[in-house]
Amino acid sequence: LTEKSIELGHCERKLESNKNIIGRKAALQVLTPWLAPIIWDGIYDLNVLNDQFKDKTIGLFVFAVKKYIRFLGPFLESAERYFMVGHKVRYYVFTDKVAEVQKPKLAEKRVLSLMEVTADQRWQDVSMRRMQVLTNLTREQLPQEIDYLVCADVDMVFGDHVGVEILGDRVATIHPGYFLVEPHSFSYERRQISEAFIPYGHGDFYYMAAFYGGTVEEIYKLSTACQNGIVADKKKNIEAVWQEESHLNKYMAYNKPTKVLSPEYIWDTDLPNGDMIKRKRFLAVHKNHAEIRNR
Ligand code: UDP
Ligand code: MN
Repeated sequence: LTEKSIELGHCERKLESNKNIIGRKAALQVLTPWLAPIIWDGIYDLNVLNDQFKDKTIGLFVFAVKKYIRFLGPFLESAERYFMVGHKVRYYVFTDKVAEVQKPKLAEKRVLSLMEVTADQRWQDVSMRRMQVLTNLTREQLPQEIDYLVCADVDMVFGDHVGVEILGDRVATIHPGYFLVEPHSFSYERRQISEAFIPYGHGDFYYMAAFYGGTVEEIYKLSTACQNGIVADKKKNIEAVWQEESHLNKYMAYNKPTKVLSPEYIWDTDLPNGDMIKRKRFLAVHKNHAEIRNR
């Protein structure tokens, strides 16, 4: 921890001159105010943790619906290289075109379940439907199959080690575009009418819904709360500003994560301050939004 603090302190000093960056101290912590670790390279001992989690099975949940099916191959191939290597892994892939998926060759102790899901017309609804599917999956099937579940966007690739250091009861990742931003500027849902509403002064980090996880039971609670929020909003004919990400942030603001992942665990090479992120472990694939989101 000391070494990491020194290193991060160095980054902090480097930023002193940059007047646009506020709230940098909070962003470079290795411990939250409620004493949850914030995972950066160098703060954990992988050998100790690998042993501690050696009997656990880890699920990786992902949607690849409509045109997003094109991301699935690279996503899975990179997961085979970097995600939970050496551990028991089960992929849960949801798609509208089961027949079109080419299953990659998986390493020992790793299996892939392919499941069918409705293709919603709006991309926002596809993205939000993940909460409904997660609720059913974590209630009925997963308690018998796995211990921890990690939920990811498919338009991503693993670029470096992601292992058991990310496991915990409730785990969320700091959005890479917001780790140097002061809380007042977080893009939380600020309209009171939405279930995802977070008042100014509440909330700790802006988390990105492209990577989060926890025990099966905790993901069940989280997805149920988010799904209920989404349904309640729909009844009022509104949608949270960042869909399920807004509901996830609401949930995490009041049910604090037991572990927080630094932006090493979601990075986008288009973002500034990449030199502060030593290991880019999970990277956004750049996409043409207009092309990929129309049918
Ligand atoms: N998604 C999908 N098909 C779609 C739209 C979304 O499979 O037509 C899934 C996919 O896993 C995607 C996630 O929902 O990664 C979130 O959507 P997107 O990545 O477009 O959101 P962004 O990261 O751009 O906010
Ligand atoms: Mn995405």
